[in-house]
Amino acid sequence: MMIKERYQLFINGQYVDSSNGEFFETHNPATEEVLATVAKATKEDVDKAVEAARAAFESGKWRKFTGAKRGRLLNKIASIMRSRFDELVRAEVLNSGKTVDAAKGQIMQAIEDFEFYAAAAITLGGETKPVPNGFFNYTVKEPVGVCGQIIPWNYPLMMAAWKIAPALAAGCTVVLKPASYTPITAYMLAEICHEAGVPEGVINVITGSGSEIGPYMTEHPGIDKIAFTGETATGKDIMARASGTLKRVTLELGGKSPNIVFDDCDIDAAVDGSLYGIFYNTGQSCEARSRLFVHEKIYDIFMEKFLEKASRLRVGDPFEKGVHIGAVISASHEKVIDSYVKLAVEEGAEVLFGGKRPEGPAFEKGHWYMPTIIGNVTNDMRVAQEEIFGPVVVVMKFNDEEEVIRQANDTIFGLGSAIWTKDHGRAHRVAAAIRAGIVMVNSPISAFPGTPFGGYKQSGFGRELALETLDLYTETKSVLSYV
Ligand code: NAD
Repeated sequence: MMIKERYQLFINGQYVDSSNGEFFETHNPATEEVLATVAKATKEDVDKAVEAARAAFESGKWRKFTGAKRGRLLNKIASIMRSRFDELVRAEVLNSGKTVDAAKGQIMQAIEDFEFYAAAAITLGGETKPVPNGFFNYTVKEPVGVCGQIIPWNYPLMMAAWKIAPALAAGCTVVLKPASYTPITAYMLAEICHEAGVPEGVINVITGSGSEIGPYMTEHPGIDKIAFTGETATGKDIMARASGTLKRVTLELGGKSPNIVFDDCDIDAAVDGSLYGIFYNTGQSCEARSRLFVHEKIYDIFMEKFLEKASRLRVGDPFEKGVHIGAVISASHEKVIDSYVKLAVEEGAEVLFGGKRPEGPAFEKGHWYMPTIIGNVTNDMRVAQEEIFGPVVVVMKFNDEEEVIRQANDTIFGLGSAIWTKDHGRAHRVAAAIRAGIVMVNSPISAFPGTPFGGYKQSGFGRELALETLDLYTETKSVLSYV
C-alpha cells in the first residue's frame, strides 16, 4: 500500500475529485517535503458524501446485517491492516513526523480496536424489562444513523479507528473528515474497509478546510451525530452549532493532565513514566501529563534523575533507531510551543531544560522542539493552565495530599491524571478525589481497547474505546405491548 501522489475524496466506494477540482498539499513535517496532493472538499462534496452515507444507511445493507456479520467484516479489516502493518506505519511516520515506535504502537492499537468492536458487535442487543401484568416490554438497540466524524492530526490512524470501528459495529454509516495535516492513513483505512467488503457508501472520507466543511457538517440536517476529537475551542463551536438540529454529539477534547509523584513511590519508575507521559508522541497527546507535581521530600533526587534522563532523550529523524522524539506537526505549531515557553519565562518561571529548537544540520529542515522542562511554576500561571500540546512539562513542588488534589483539580480540563505511590490506600483515595476521566496509577499507559477513554469538565463528554461507546452510536427503542 504505497502512498499515492494524489488522493481524491472517497465517496460511495469510489475516488472522486472535489466538485471544483481543487487540491492541497500534505507534507512530511520532518523534511517539509510534499508527500501527496489531496482533494479539497467543498460543501457540495459534503452533501454528496452525506447522501451516499444516508442512502447506505436507509438501504439497510449495513445496519440490517447481523452483529455477527458486521463483526466478521471488522475482523477482516483488522487482518488486512495487520498484513499492511509496515506500510501503514511508514505512511503514518512520513505524514505525522512521529517516531516509528510510536506509530507502531498506535497502529497496533487501531487494529486491536477493530478486533475489540468485532467481538462487541455480536453482543449488541436489547433487554426485556419488568412491567405490570398484561404488558410485555423489550428494548432494541438501533444505530443512530449517519455519523460525521472529525478527527485531529496527532494520532491520525488510531483516531480514525476509534471513530470508525464502533460506528460500524453499531450499524451506522460514516462521513469521516481527517485533519488536513494528516489525511493519508485515513484514506488507506477507507480502502482497506472497502477491500474487506464494507458496502459502498458505508464509509466516506472527505478532506478539506476544517473551518469551512467542519461547521457545515456540524449543521448538516442529513447527519445524525457528530463525533469529534480536537481542541476544546473547536468542541464548543461544534456543540453550539449542533444544537440547531439537536444532533447527538460526542466530544473528546484537550487536557492539562496532572502527574502526581508522592514521596513513597518507586522513584525510578516514576521518573521513566513521567518522561514517557509527557514526551511520548512529541508531547502532542491529549492525555499528555503536562503538569508534574513532585513531593518536596523527594523533589531534589527526582528532579536530578528526571533532568539527567531528559538530557539523554534523542530528538531527530523519526525513522532512526534510538530516536525518542520526532518532529512537531507544523511550523505554526512549533511557534505556538515556543511562544508558551517564552510566556512561562515572562510569568517568572525558569527553563530547566530545552526551551528551544534543537540545533545542527539535521534540523535545518522540518519542525522541531526540544524536550522542555519548566520549573519555578505556580498552578495559576497560563503555562500551567493552557494546553500547549508539545514536549513541554511544568514542574511544581507540593507537601500535602489534600493540597495537591486541590491543585490537580484546579483546571478547566479533566482528561488524564497520574499518581505514583506504593500506598494502595492513598492511590485509591486520590483516584476518587480527582476529577478526570482517566487515572493512571503507577502506569505509563493510559488506555487499552476496552477501557473507557474520555474527559470530565471541558475535556468533553462521551467515552471511546470501550463497550459503552456503542451506547453513543445507538438509540434505545422501547417496545411496550399489551398482551
Ligand atoms: P482542531 O480542533 O484544530 O481540529 C480537529 C479537527 O477539527 C480537524 O479535522 C479540523 O480540520 C476540524 N475543525 C477545525 N475547525 C472546525 C470547526 N469549526 N468545526 C468542525 N471541525 C473543525 O484540533 P487539532 O489541532 O487537530 O488537534 C489537537 C487537539 O485535539 C488537542 O486539543 C488535543 O488535546 C485534542 N485531542 C483530544 C483527544 C481526546 O481523546 N480527548 C485525543 C487526541 C487529540
